[in-house]
Order: sequence, then C-alpha cells, then structure tokens
Amino acid sequence: MSIQQTTAELLQKVHTLSNARRDYFSQLPGVKVLAVTKNQESSAVRAALEAGITAIAENRVQEAVKKYADIKDMTEWHFIGHLQTNKVKQIIPFCHLIHSVDRQALAIEIDNAASKLNKCQDVLMQINVSGEDTKFGLPPGQAIQMARFLTSLHNIRLCGCMTIAPLVEDMEETRPISRELFYLFQEIKSLQLPNAKLEWLSMGMTNDYPIAIEEGANLIRIGTGIFGKRH
Ligand SMILES: *Cc1c(COP(=O)(O)O)cnc(C)c1O
Repeated sequence: MSIQQTTAELLQKVHTLSNARRDYFSQLPGVKVLAVTKNQESSAVRAALEAGITAIAENRVQEAVKKYADIKDMTEWHFIGHLQTNKVKQIIPFCHLIHSVDRQALAIEIDNAASKLNKCQDVLMQINVSGEDTKFGLPPGQAIQMARFLTSLHNIRLCGCMTIAPLVEDMEETRPISRELFYLFQEIKSLQLPNAKLEWLSMGMTNDYPIAIEEGANLIRIGTGIFGKRH
C-alpha cells in the first residue's frame, strides 16, 4: 500500500478510537498522530504530510537536522529519541516538543540552550514504566521529584509524560503499562505545579496505539504503520 493509503486508513482508525473517548478528550487536546521518520527520506516525509500528517517525530539528532533543512516549517517537529547533552543545542531552534527528558543534566542543558534563544522549550518526561533495562527513562518513583525540578527551570515548560511499551505479540499486554502512565500523569497534574501545562500523554506505537488511545494517549508515534517496514 502507498503512504497515502496507509496514512488515510490510520487517521480514520484514530478518529474512531478517539471519538469513543470524546468526554475525556474534551479536557485535553485530541489525539495527534506523529509520523516517526527514522531511516526515511525527505520524500517519504513529504508524502505523509500530503496525506494529512501534521507532525513529524525524529529519534536521531543528525537525521532531524538534515530533514529539517529540507522540509523546514511545513510541519511541527518532535524529538522522541535518547538525547545526549552535547547535541541539545542543534535541535532547540526548531523542536516543538522534546519527549525524552529523563535526567536533570539534560534538563539543565535544554534550559540553557533555550534561554540563549529566548525560547521556552516544551518537554515531556520519559518514564520507563516497564522497567526493562534496555530502555531509557526515569523510574516511575522518581517522576514527581523530576516534575518539581523541571518546573523550577524558566526556559522549560513541562507538558506531560512519555513511555515506550514493550514489544509484544498481543497488544493487550501493553494495557497495564499505558494505564500506569495515565495514573502517574493524573497524579502530576493534581500537584498543580507552576509553569507546567500538563496536556500531552505520549504513548502508543504501530503495535499498540489502539490500546494506548483507550488508556488516554493523545500523542501516538507511528513509524511502520505509515511507512512500512524499516530497511
Ligand atoms: C521507532 C519509534 C517509534 C515508532 O515505532 P513503530 O513501531 O515503527 O511505529 C515510536 N517511538 C519511538 C521512541 C521510536 O523510536
């Protein structure tokens, strides 16, 4: 199937799933589909944008910078990969939302780089809900302390949480992970921290996005479900 067709079908499914949660999403921005463009050429990215995608997510700094040079502000750019502190300043000028803030040193670097550009950088905290050692992210038990730290920085705005569920055959197995992040997100919201705008819950990929939306995700990150298998 073409990128055009897979994207149209995906957006239709997402629309149906989010309609089923209309009451919940009336309190938050509706579900936004991010096209994850790792290993894809700029031409594939353009095709996804033409098919109705409104935001792009990259997980490598080099690729993000290169594609941004081609595509610029035709879309919104999200960063979802592990971020090294020495690369932060390359993405701040164009990054709409950084999903992968998982340590204080990284937050301080983002705050500094954003301050030099007179920008307030929107970020999510990445939480390692599944506890797999192959995954980055904060343990859930450290999330509140980190939320307090992030909201003490002036050039960062905490906007929500992100997690990566384990890759499993039966997507139903990811439900407890999504549900736990949803509860953590509610708990952080209830703290009413100053300078925060807690409105995004980033979870759900090609294999588990229907469950993630049922459990309250409003940012889903889709790679193979749009572009097909990665080479
Ligand atoms: C690659 C990637 C995705 C997309 O994965 P698919 O299974 O291809 O949809 C989502 N989130 C992150 C952090 C990724 O690295």
